[in-house]
Amino acid sequence: MYVYFFEDGNTKLRSLLGGKGADLAEMVSLGLPVPPGLTITTEACNYYSSHGKFPAGLEEEILSKMKVLESKTGRIFGAAENPLLVSVRSGAPISMPGMMDTVLNLGLNDKTVQGVIQQTHDERFAFDAYRRFIQMFGKVVLGVPGDVFENTISKYKASLNVESDTELNSQTLLDIVREFKELVKQEARRNFPDDPVEQLMMAVAAVFQSWNGRRAIIYRQANKIPETLGTAVNIQTMVFGNQGPDSATGVCFTRNPSTGEPVFFGEYLTNAQGEDVVAGIRTPKPIAELQKEMPEAYGQLRKVCVILEEHFKDMQDIEFTIEKRRLFLLQTRSGKRTASATVRIAGDLAKEGRITKEEALLRVQPTHLEQLVHRQIDPTYESKPIATGLPASPGAATGRVIFDTDEAHTLGTEGQSVILVREETTPEDIHGMIAAKGVLTSRGGMTSHAAVVARGMGKPAVVGCEQIKIDPVAETFSTRRNTIKKNDIITIDGTTGNVLLGMAPTIEPKLSSHAQELLGWADEIRKLGVRANADTPDGAEIARQFGAGGIGLCRTERMFNAQDRLPIVQEMILSVTKEERAKALAKLKPLQKDDFKEIFRKMHDLPVTIRLLDLPLHEFLPKYEELVAEVSSLKATGTSTELLDSKERMLKKVITLSEHNPMLGHRGCRLAISHPEIYEMQTGAILEAACELLKEGVKVRVQIMLPLVGEANEVQFLRQRIIETADKVMESEGCKLDYRIGTMIEVPRAALTAEEIAPYADFFSFGTNDLTQATFAFSRDDAEAKFMKDYVDNKILEADPFEVLDQKGVGKLMRLAVDAGRASNPKLKVGICGEHGGEPSSVEFCHRLRLDYVSCSPYRVPVARLVAAQAAAREKAVKQQENE
Ligand code: PEP
Ligand code: MG
Repeated sequence: MYVYFFEDGNTKLRSLLGGKGADLAEMVSLGLPVPPGLTITTEACNYYSSHGKFPAGLEEEILSKMKVLESKTGRIFGAAENPLLVSVRSGAPISMPGMMDTVLNLGLNDKTVQGVIQQTHDERFAFDAYRRFIQMFGKVVLGVPGDVFENTISKYKASLNVESDTELNSQTLLDIVREFKELVKQEARRNFPDDPVEQLMMAVAAVFQSWNGRRAIIYRQANKIPETLGTAVNIQTMVFGNQGPDSATGVCFTRNPSTGEPVFFGEYLTNAQGEDVVAGIRTPKPIAELQKEMPEAYGQLRKVCVILEEHFKDMQDIEFTIEKRRLFLLQTRSGKRTASATVRIAGDLAKEGRITKEEALLRVQPTHLEQLVHRQIDPTYESKPIATGLPASPGAATGRVIFDTDEAHTLGTEGQSVILVREETTPEDIHGMIAAKGVLTSRGGMTSHAAVVARGMGKPAVVGCEQIKIDPVAETFSTRRNTIKKNDIITIDGTTGNVLLGMAPTIEPKLSSHAQELLGWADEIRKLGVRANADTPDGAEIARQFGAGGIGLCRTERMFNAQDRLPIVQEMILSVTKEERAKALAKLKPLQKDDFKEIFRKMHDLPVTIRLLDLPLHEFLPKYEELVAEVSSLKATGTSTELLDSKERMLKKVITLSEHNPMLGHRGCRLAISHPEIYEMQTGAILEAACELLKEGVKVRVQIMLPLVGEANEVQFLRQRIIETADKVMESEGCKLDYRIGTMIEVPRAALTAEEIAPYADFFSFGTNDLTQATFAFSRDDAEAKFMKDYVDNKILEADPFEVLDQKGVGKLMRLAVDAGRASNPKLKVGICGEHGGEPSSVEFCHRLRLDYVSCSPYRVPVARLVAAQAAAREKAVKQQENE
């Protein structure tokens, strides 16, 4: 069977009948006033798509069921007397609004139009319907360009000196009908089909074809809708909203689709047909006016809304027509809505008892929350991007293009809006990034420095934008078409990766009370803790605001990079003797202590995981090339021997510290094994800060974390020194503090020997940025810029593993480590602090691995809370099903 009557369908047959067909069927079963009709299945469409013709028997089935439709309506398809007219409309299983084709008023010809005149006693109406039919059929089925018809109507209006279509009288409309037919003949090189059966079959075929039209294909690709679904076709008895002042047509929503407010919302036009509302020829009136104009129909429509919402348990978008005061429903579907409306409606429906809290949580997508916590480009703004890079940190920012970090810092602190544009950023660019409104880089991937730091700051960033070529000397960047100079205004959209010329209007971010309430429900059901990666008191503050349950990663090297610290750090690195180094470290300690105190204060009562220094030391020194240039210029001018000496010393050290593979080099815990005094200083600063706060009555939960561990003895060695230092501090401060020592698991060997490491660790935290790098042997600084796109485009990898956790490989190592670690230390807590800790599918995986927590950038905390709850809700549903 390829053809269903509306009364034979239901919502379970959605994949066969399409969304519109299934929902029309539901409305019929609810006894609502739906003009009778038929639905041709998606199977017939799929057959048509692969064979280029109707399946055997389809035409006969349509015609025999049209006969039944005739008897139901008391009208005859193609008859001169009391003719039946129908609409032919597409309806895919997943709604694709406006992407496919529709034909209205089908069945009209010179004979049947007379029948319509008899039925309606309205010649003007009949000829208007006829000209609309030829126009739509001509465009949709016969491929005649739409403006051919529009121009003709304009010509008539101009010659008669009238402005609106409604002012054209029946004679003019009849003239237009004749002219339209001639135009079709010229353009389509065939006569307009007069036979209603031929019209119907051609229209059905055209709707099938529109499934593979350009618009539909692009929409499917953008929305990841499989092309195998096909579209159903609905043939429905026509009702007319254009039969005079007591007729109307419109669209209404059961709630406000923009804000989610539970108010009746919609628009309508009196004396008009559906396409007039969509085409925007006349300005529709707000639905509230219908109450005055046609109170009965309005009252009925309100009742329908209640019934439909109750039935579908969601906000509905309803198309209706009022024909001579009688209300008809042409379509209902779950209405499209904004991110904030999605959150509000889901929450309200749960509070009204229509859906459960779990269902409400599952209705909100992570992307909805992402949109709510960042400034966005006004969705109504239309502009073409000049380039597109990786959407590294969501949100939109507008400002002057500045290439120099110091200049960005100066202008930014003066209050100017600046976009820092660099090939890539390094820790030395931090101050410029802080002062800038957004960051654009031409190299680097989703876990590049710029991306990670910007996300941590909640600052919009587009990275790895290879379409731009930066000329640092001329201070310009160019795309294929444009050259942008320093101080030109651009807007970057870190949500899409787009770069726009000039200023784009943006709208404020907010986590509404509705979102907070929903996330409160998420917290009730999730099993996974959610912490934030934050290195500053500001970051800690935001983390708390967004509901983080602690800090899962505080990277201390970011603090070393602050402008007042860098010279002292350099002094430490350049020290020749232990005493010299101790002196420099002693200067750093109070500064670090103050940082920790502020963060602890903000996070009181919640755990704060501080990672001891990770980066290789050479990252704190100037670049080799720059120093060589400085030294030779100082030598040439011979002005300052003192300065020359110090630069030469620095150059020597840079040469000594330089490594072939710095990411695999003298960094992390390896550095501390060579120079234990660095971690001793940091431990001292942490413990002193905590003890002082404890005395003030602030509860501090300190967790000290070791980076880049690959061997249990490293942990044993460093743990011992940390404990010794801590004991000394506590003794001199006269305070007793409960603190934890744990390790990152970011080297494959650590995962493989987790059972040996776990006895020395209170916690593990997966550093999946480095773990991904090492597992794939992909350089995280180069892979995304150089070849990751080719891997993803060629489907060698499903997704960039630095963004979406590679569950097969990296995930396998994680599973090994969790199981082995917990087996040898049952008290072990396990979390993740790589960038994957805020990526939805990775968070879901962490839930399945039974991790204790995920840690992510503060701005991703709401998403992680939601996804953790969704994972728990889905798991509960599966278990319930298994038990049934
Ligand atoms: C990691 O490697 O996953 C991590 C969190 O550390 P970083 O990104 O600082 O190397
Ligand atoms: Mg790391």
